Amino acid sequence: MTYIRRTNHLLYELEESEERYRRLVQLSPDGVLVVSEGRVVLANDAALKLLGLEKREQLLGKPLYTFTKEEWRAEACRDTYAHKHMESVTDLIETRFRRQDGSEVDVETASTWISYRGEPAQLIHFRDITLRKRAEEQLMSANQLLRDLTNMDGLTGVANRRCFDERIRAEWEACQSSGVPFSLIMFDLDYFKMYNDTYGHQPGDRCLREAAGAAAAAVSALKLQGAMVARYGGEEFAVLLPGTDADRALGIAEDVRERIVSLAIPHSGSKASSVVTVSVGVSTLLPAEAISPENAIERADQALYEAKKAGRNCVRMALQTPFC
Ligand code: GH3
Ligand code: MG
Ligand code: MG
Repeated sequence: MTYIRRTNHLLYELEESEERYRRLVQLSPDGVLVVSEGRVVLANDAALKLLGLEKREQLLGKPLYTFTKEEWRAEACRDTYAHKHMESVTDLIETRFRRQDGSEVDVETASTWISYRGEPAQLIHFRDITLRKRAEEQLMSANQLLRDLTNMDGLTGVANRRCFDERIRAEWEACQSSGVPFSLIMFDLDYFKMYNDTYGHQPGDRCLREAAGAAAAAVSALKLQGAMVARYGGEEFAVLLPGTDADRALGIAEDVRERIVSLAIPHSGSKASSVVTVSVGVSTLLPAEAISPENAIERADQALYEAKKAGRNCVRMALQTPFC
């Protein structure tokens, strides 16, 4: 008698515990699935909702990889048949589940092995993290925007001096370690004080923007890794040309000058032309321990000074070292 009473009590306790477990799973705001031999055998309402399903039958008996990424197919099969992680709970992983309508949802998921109706089964817990992902993406693009703004000249939109100082050093070192030449162009608007005096400061600003834009277009057309236009200061600009030899740099400098002339911005106060022009200096060096980016700047500046002396609206090259 006592034995029967005790057995009944145990059965009652077991039923009660199962009911508690079922309700807990059902109440969970996160998706819960039990997968046996790769197929879904239990799903709570949150799982249905998250996968965009209306009826449990749409999910029960289906292979898990109907709703997961392709990579999960192999994973699910391997785990199901190997049963080797019986004790372990996986780390939280971020992945995407495919909804019934084909759309995808970002989820965070973890799984473990349980015994389900006497058979090993995977208990999978997952949570919609769309909002968190969106917030992360917004934060990342805000950070990127902030980085871009810190590196950008507010007036012209090209790189600012801070960015130039950083990049010239980095590109110089990269050229030094790969043993390739480094070229630098410096250009300066001709008679620009006169331009401001004649047309006013705001048209002057516009003119700077257009000249910088023309140079940036010339450089981006090169599709040259590391090449960059920067505002060096006032109406003077610099162009970094890593991995560029003297001949090519000279051609690029000429292209920049011509593009700015082609803008055809009237400049009645210039003694060099009827339109806005630039004088351009170029230096090419093979980076070595004994020299520095400052040498490149100095030489390009000197060449620019020569271009001014030669009557402006022209390109001058700094004296070549034997290796360039
Ligand atoms: P040069 O042909 O020898 O280069 O003569 P320049 O008149 O261009 O050179 P100078 O150094 O005498 O004058 C530079 C002028 O550039 C003076 C300055 O007001 C103007 N400038 C510098 N920055 C800006 C700016 O941001 N906006 C405007 N509108 N003008 C600027
Ligand atoms: Mg000038
Ligand atoms: Mg100047």
